[in-house]
Parts: sequence; C-alpha cells; structure tokens
Amino acid sequence: MQSFDVVVIGGSVSGAPTAMLLARRGYKVLVVERQAFPRDTLSTHFIWPRGVSYLNRWGLAQQVFSRTPCYQKMEINIEGISLVGSIPLRDVQDRFQQLHRNSEAVTNFYCGPRRFFLDELLLNAARDAGVDVRESTTCTHPLIEDGVVCGVHITGPSRKSETVRAKLVIGADGRFSNFVKQVGSKTVDLRPLSTFAYWGYFSGIEREELAIHKRGRVGTAIFPTSHDTHMVLVYGPTAWWEDFRKDTEGNFFKTYEFCSPEITELVRAGKREEPFKACGTMPAFHRELHGPGWALVGDAGSFKDQVTAMGITHSFRDAELITGYIHYALSGQLTMEEALSEYSRVRGADYYEYFDLVCRTAEMNAYTKAELEFFHSIRNNQKQIDQLISQFGDTLPLSNGEPASGQPEKDVPECISNFDTQFPCYLVNPYMVGQFDSFKQPVAV
Ligand SMILES: Cc1cc2nc3c(=O)[nH]c(=O)nc-3n(C[C@H](O)[C@H](O)[C@H](O)COP(=O)(O)OP(=O)(O)OC[C@H]3O[C@@H](n4cnc5c(N)ncnc54)[C@H](O)[C@@H]3O)c2cc1C
Repeated sequence: MQSFDVVVIGGSVSGAPTAMLLARRGYKVLVVERQAFPRDTLSTHFIWPRGVSYLNRWGLAQQVFSRTPCYQKMEINIEGISLVGSIPLRDVQDRFQQLHRNSEAVTNFYCGPRRFFLDELLLNAARDAGVDVRESTTCTHPLIEDGVVCGVHITGPSRKSETVRAKLVIGADGRFSNFVKQVGSKTVDLRPLSTFAYWGYFSGIEREELAIHKRGRVGTAIFPTSHDTHMVLVYGPTAWWEDFRKDTEGNFFKTYEFCSPEITELVRAGKREEPFKACGTMPAFHRELHGPGWALVGDAGSFKDQVTAMGITHSFRDAELITGYIHYALSGQLTMEEALSEYSRVRGADYYEYFDLVCRTAEMNAYTKAELEFFHSIRNNQKQIDQLISQFGDTLPLSNGEPASGQPEKDVPECISNFDTQFPCYLVNPYMVGQFDSFKQPVAV
C-alpha cells in the first residue's frame, strides 16, 4: 500500500496550491482529482489583488498575465454615483504581514483568468513541484481507523480501487464535498439568502478594467478575461431567479440596460462566443475545519455568495495558511492537532467579519438614502474611495477603516432627491411581466 505525508482530495484552486506548497517544502503529496483538466467550472473568475499576490508569491502570476489582462483601477457605480479607485499596495502589504508575517511579492493588480486556464496551470505547477497528481481519479471514501482518518480509498480511470495511507487527508473537494459528510464535519453557520448569477463571454468589446453597476436590487459586472473576451454578468436576489429564467437572454439585456445603458451598447455590439452560464442559488456556510487526521480548505470548509467574487482569493489564502501549519506538525514543532487548531483559529479570525459582509451583500437590498448620501459625499475623495474598494476586496479589514468625512450636499443626484418615490419600485420583482417599465418612469406614491 502506498503511503504519503498528505493526500489532497480535489485539484482545483484550493487543492492544487495546497499540494504544490507542501511538495515545495519537500513532503510527499498525492492529489486525486475526479475530472480531467483542462475543464471549465461553474464560476466566474475575478481575482482580487490579495489573490493575485499569492500567485505572484508562488511564481505563477506572469504565466497568468501572459494570457489575461491585469489592472489596478476599477469602477463601482451605485445608482449612477461613480466611484473609481484601486486598492492601495500598502493595504495588501499590511494584510499579508498581519496574516503571514511577510509581505514578499505582493501586488495591487487584479485580473480575471478563465478557470479552464487557471486551474490547469495550478495543477501543472503542483505536478512540477513533485506532487503525484492523479486526474480522472475519485476519492470514494476515507480510510478511518479508531476514529482517525489515515488514508483514502480511490478509484482511477481503470476503475480499479486502491487504498493509500497518509498522515493527513485534506478535503479540497468544493462546496458539495462528500468528504465533509464522510468525516462528519458540522456546519456551524448557514446563511440561506443568496444571489442568482447569469453570465456570458463576449468578443469585440473595447473596454478596459472592471466595472460593477448596482441599481435597486440588481447588479452587473464586466471585465476583460483571458482569450480576448469579456466576462459579462448580471445578478439579483435568488427569490427572483424563477421569473428571470422565463426569458434569460431578454432579462440579461434588460438588467444591463437598467443598470448601465452605456455598457449595454458595447455588449450588444460584441459577439457572444459560447452559451450563457447560470447559477440560481448559492447559500453560504461555514463548517468545522478539522478533526483527527483531516482538514478542509477552500469551499469545502466555507462557501459564500459570488457577489464579492472572493472564493478563489480565499482558496489561495487557505493553501498558504494551512501548509505553514502542516509544516510545523510534520517537522515536529507542533502536534498535528495543535497545528490544525491554529489553522482553524487564524483562518476564522481572518474570515468572519468579511463572511458576514458577503452574506449581507448577497441579500441584495437596495441602498438606503443614508448610504446613497454617503457614496455621493465621497465621490471626489480618492482616499475614501480606495478605502471602500479595499474593504470590499477584503484587503483593509472592515474594522480598520477611517470614519467617512464627507459632508451632506445641497446638489444631489436624482437617486437621492427622488429616493422616496424610487425606493418602493425597487422592491417589486422586475422580472414579472412588464415591471421593468415601472423602474424607468418611477411611480408616484
Ligand atoms: C456562480 C459563481 C461565481 C463565482 N465567481 C467567483 C469569482 O468571480 N471570483 C472568485 O474568487 N470566486 C468566485 N466563485 C467562487 C469560486 O468558484 C470558489 O470559491 C472556488 O472554485 C473554490 O475552489 P475549491 O478548490 O475549494 O473548490 P472547487 O473549485 O469546487 O473544486 C473542487 C474540486 O474537487 C474535485 N472533487 C470533488 N469531489 C471529488 C472526489 N470525491 N474525488 C476527487 N476529486 C473530487 C472536483 O472535480 C473539483 O475540481 C464563484 C462561485 C460561483 C458558484
């Protein structure tokens, strides 16, 4: 029977780098991945500067940039209030210092590589580091002795079963993880409200950088991705998904038109290169992250809505964090239990405040008048805009921001002066027949 220091189940954005970093430290690692790469996955793929920083630290960012444009500036547009800024490099450095005690090679660039490209690149990097990578191979169940996970049973392309032993088994098998059920990890937080997301890939769009537009309870995003296309997305509350899907393409364009007429023109003039993709619901959760002989990384451990596009960045964080603690255990500086408890504690501390923000954002409530007044008051204050973007991109911790210093103004845009009329319209499901029209001409109440 073969024996490894660590077996990782799943070779995607959390599993592959976890395995790679362990192998680079000299450990004997096996990754089992049930699919054959390259393959696409049901996810968009925006990576915040914190995530790109990990790629750069691992020596992989240049390969990603060779196929994918990267930028610093982005626009967040709320009810027509345009906030353009970037995440200060200082914030990225501080966050890495705080979490990893070193900020080597961090960057404040972001990018959005396609997953069939990114995931294969990461798995190849694991292979290059010496990991035994087995694609088209499924972990059927863990090997458990006296309550301790000490290996896995796997089935490869030949359908022959094999058992391998390991000092630690890591579940990196995504939000629908089977391993989680098999080891009995409990869900400790569950937030059912989520968004739906509907997106396509268009060529022929001349537009740089990320732009997010939010109006009422719906939103849009666009950014240039790999292979000369743009990822173009609309999203809204899951409660409206059933009505949205009655006319998906029609509602896609209506939503874009409603949030950003200028960008809609560009998208309409472009060419859709492949079928649209959709995800109707994505409840968030957090699970117990470790037990005897096992641990979880990425979505298997916690999953949150796509609305802030943070899953890949957090998967990379998990990889770097857990491998440091596993090294302490495998080199005899801590017991495995001590090392994994520290991993769970530190990851939780890095995570919970932001997890809460994502869950609240995923409810897709329309902004209040006070919130709109705040966004309007900071629109010319670059420091405040950058701080907001840095917090939204989980770089500056939410509790570390400076209080806003904007003053209420006399000349306010329509979204504020007309707020009391407009707000009730936003509560109506626009995908019910004819409702979008009531948005354009606000109904007097
Ligand atoms: C609609 C949507 C949009 C998103 N948009 C973004 C975004 O823009 N930016 C962002 O950062 N994040 C985004 N995310 C989140 C992101 O996709 C995830 O956080 C990320 O993929 C998690 O990576 P993972 O490696 O933990 O899991 P996964 O990517 O789900 O990978 C799990 C892997 O495990 C393998 N596997 C499963 N079971 C087994 C088994 N038994 N044996 C062997 N292999 C197995 C699977 O084949 C898979 O390759 C989005 C998510 C959704 C749903």
